[in-house]
Amino acid sequence: MEKTPATKPPVALQAVKGMNDVLPAESAKWEYFEQTATRVARQYGYRNMRAPIVEHTPLFVRSIGEVTDIVEKEMYSFEDKLNGEKLTLRPELTAGLVRASIESNLVYNGPVRVYCLGQMFRHERPQKGRYRQFSQFDVECFGFEGPDVDAEIMIMTARLWRELGIPDVRLEINTLGGVKERIVYRNELIRHYEANLEALDDEAKRRLHTNPMRILDSKVASVIEVNKTAPNLLDSLERDSRAHFDGLQQLLTDAGVPFVVNPRIVRGMDYYNRTAFEFVTERFGAPLTVCGGGRYDGLFEQLGGKPTPAIGFGMGIERVLMMLPDEQKSSGLDAYIVHAGVGAQKTASTLSESLRNAGLAVAQHAGGGSFKSQMKKADASGARFALIIGDNEVSAGTVAVKPLRDANGSPIQGEQAIITSSAVAAHLRS
Ligand code: ATP
Ligand code: MG
Repeated sequence: MEKTPATKPPVALQAVKGMNDVLPAESAKWEYFEQTATRVARQYGYRNMRAPIVEHTPLFVRSIGEVTDIVEKEMYSFEDKLNGEKLTLRPELTAGLVRASIESNLVYNGPVRVYCLGQMFRHERPQKGRYRQFSQFDVECFGFEGPDVDAEIMIMTARLWRELGIPDVRLEINTLGGVKERIVYRNELIRHYEANLEALDDEAKRRLHTNPMRILDSKVASVIEVNKTAPNLLDSLERDSRAHFDGLQQLLTDAGVPFVVNPRIVRGMDYYNRTAFEFVTERFGAPLTVCGGGRYDGLFEQLGGKPTPAIGFGMGIERVLMMLPDEQKSSGLDAYIVHAGVGAQKTASTLSESLRNAGLAVAQHAGGGSFKSQMKKADASGARFALIIGDNEVSAGTVAVKPLRDANGSPIQGEQAIITSSAVAAHLRS
């Protein structure tokens, strides 16, 4: 077929801004990540859980908090045209998974560890590593007080980085204390910022009395300066919170997982308490958070459930994929079947199915064409072997087997061999 230049449909028929397609050439990376993350989570006893993409808007407002970036300006909210219900596309997973757990009394028989993969939606300004539809690998532990399970999810994530071959992510931890300590700390913070009012930007001023801890997270230069002398919550921790935080650090040290304490980590949602953490990379210039999470012991009650201590994290998959090498992973195809002639078509179909029965991945050429053009397709398919069937092979009950790529997917020039049909599966395996 002639190659036609890419045409651009009218805007209304193009993808929504900040929402990306994943084409076949990129999907190997996605699947590699999803499979690795799933395998590691299962190795630690986590089970898959899923919740709907759409939830009632108040669920997110209540859990994430009114004065947060997400609720103030990032949520895709709309009214159900049929019944007027206020709905929102999920901007994160914790709220939905907690809601589902409360509704099904999931923690009735004891604590539960779960993981989930899926798409989130936030109306942000699209740029590299920041999209309006993005994906997260999310892990939640319901019913555990920690700090053992706090350490566990960080140790598990450290393993995931090793398995993925990503060495340059740094674990930063902090504690947000308990409700009482936060009230005291909040007032200290407000006093500090009031004394430095001229350095605050409009957003920080607006948050001064509603959510001052969020100002610690500001990216504005003058605010960063004021934050350097801000009081430290670590200094006013009560005994239990201190013991929790010390316990976490000891467990991480025992496990050989390096970390730094960063008192500026406050996280974007109101529901967090005690342990907060992020995995950060410097690979792209400015520090980029690839994974963030923390403890949220009050959220179950806040959403109408029984008191249930909990911790979890969300990992931005697009940001992780930016850190994976671009090398073309093999297509996963064992063989591409090239065939010419009516008899060959039938033989090719029978052979394809029998190889698939043997567990092999086989693409059978479709759409006719010359032997030469079919061989080009075989090359482009990334398959390890081309299996060639012509009239001669049909009458002899054989197949010509031509190696195309090695186990790593690199092209090779191999000798063609003539194999009896029934021995092809074993030959491809050897
Ligand atoms: P940021 O400070 O970068 O806006 P955040 O605090 O809003 O991050 P979280 O709500 O903690 O992020 O989400 C967890 C992870 O999800 C982030 O660390 C990041 O990897 C990813 N993430 C968040 N927002 C986006 C987005 N718009 N596009 C791509 N990934 C995102
Ligand atoms: Mg954000």
